[in-house]
Amino acid sequence: MVVPGAASDCTARMRTEVAIIGGGPAGLLLSHLLSAEGIDSVIIEARSQEYVLSRIRAGILEHSTVELLDQIGLGRRLHAEGHEHRGIYLQWPEERHHIDFVDHVGRSVWVYGQTEVTKDLVAARERDGQEIYYEASDTAVHDIDSDAPYVTFTDSAGRPQRVDAVVIAGCDGSFGPSRAAVPDAVRHTWERVYPYSWLGILADVAPSTDELIYAWHPDGFAMHSMRSDTVSRLYLQVPNGTDVTTWSDDQIWDSLATRLGHGQDGWTLNPGPITDRSVLPMRSYVQTPMRHGALFLAGDAAHTVPPTGAKGLNLAVADVAALAPALTALLRGNNPKPAASYSDVALRRVWRCTHFSWWMTTMLHTSGDPFDEQLQLSQLRWVATSDAGAAGLAENYAGLPIGF
Ligand SMILES: Cc1cc2nc3c(=O)[nH]c(=O)nc-3n(C[C@H](O)[C@H](O)[C@H](O)COP(=O)(O)OP(=O)(O)OC[C@H]3O[C@@H](n4cnc5c(N)ncnc54)[C@H](O)[C@@H]3O)c2cc1C
Repeated sequence: MVVPGAASDCTARMRTEVAIIGGGPAGLLLSHLLSAEGIDSVIIEARSQEYVLSRIRAGILEHSTVELLDQIGLGRRLHAEGHEHRGIYLQWPEERHHIDFVDHVGRSVWVYGQTEVTKDLVAARERDGQEIYYEASDTAVHDIDSDAPYVTFTDSAGRPQRVDAVVIAGCDGSFGPSRAAVPDAVRHTWERVYPYSWLGILADVAPSTDELIYAWHPDGFAMHSMRSDTVSRLYLQVPNGTDVTTWSDDQIWDSLATRLGHGQDGWTLNPGPITDRSVLPMRSYVQTPMRHGALFLAGDAAHTVPPTGAKGLNLAVADVAALAPALTALLRGNNPKPAASYSDVALRRVWRCTHFSWWMTTMLHTSGDPFDEQLQLSQLRWVATSDAGAAGLAENYAGLPIGF
């Protein structure tokens, strides 16, 4: 229960057990799992609710993400409206191969947009009466080295607010204040910036494929994904710094057709009206530790992966699946051990997914180096035609069990 109070300097003051910065998938899911254990939280979110609910990002849910959403009663719409995929197509000029995850590792993935996951989480949090402060500004983290940490922010009406908490969860993505609150002397970072970006489009057209196509092509990588029976999501590798307005619709569809193999073995790519387009830079980033004092980082606040392996959203879910029981043990069971080992436990999966995302990215994107291209084609042939190679991709893509 949030207990409002009043501070002498006109700052409205409240107390909760967990102050959560960020109302994206990580923050919303964390508050949901904590609430199921009777733990009180407050969410502070920089954007409006409309913006959060319409943000177009990831679209592939790992097996263990789906299992978790089912367990907590949030899988109904996913199973009704999402699509289960057994695998993906991997291709290069003149060849397309299907990698069947179910045959190889007994696990599938689901196509269900991050926007839909977010809608389900927001609806569940509203049903439970969760306190969410949207359109917060100047969010700052204080005294994380003490046993009285707090968060300050300005609410949407311009009033200064202070949330006193037992712990703070930094779920505020790559650009929030949480990761920078860890002192420099403690913080380690690893980063890889790739020399290419993705031009992503959303189009009102039925997908031209039943499962995702990952295509290597001398002109650059292309990918055919989807969001529903009537909406397709497609990506093109483009140089860094590309201005999205310099690509006409015809140029986008022509490049997609070439790279995805339009006409190959009778396959055709159906173009349609483009409703959204953006350029997404590709980066790998990990910050450790994921806990410092009373501050716990989860999701993109601690790490970023290039989207080629479809891991960003799933990794945020896996972090929270480890963090929620650790905080429950800390706050309810008087057992600090799971919270003490949270960073080490979460980072095992973070580095596995960081490697897999790097591996998929560097196998599929061209850099103009002819030697690298031959190595990429050799790697693709091995993955697509060897059971051992395909099983490795399948196990990582469909996702290792939570707790790996
Ligand atoms: C632009 C973009 C496109 C992406 N596209 C894809 C894709 O195509 N495929 C794919 O697999 N993955 C994609 N991802 C990755 C995936 O969407 C993320 O990994 C996932 O959203 C992580 O969830 P999160 O809750 O940790 O972080 P986020 O979803 O980033 O949520 C963080 C929340 O914190 C809020 N916040 C930030 N600063 C503050 C502050 N100062 N105070 C309060 N709140 C704050 C933000 O508004 C946001 O709501 C994309 C990510 C981005 C950033």
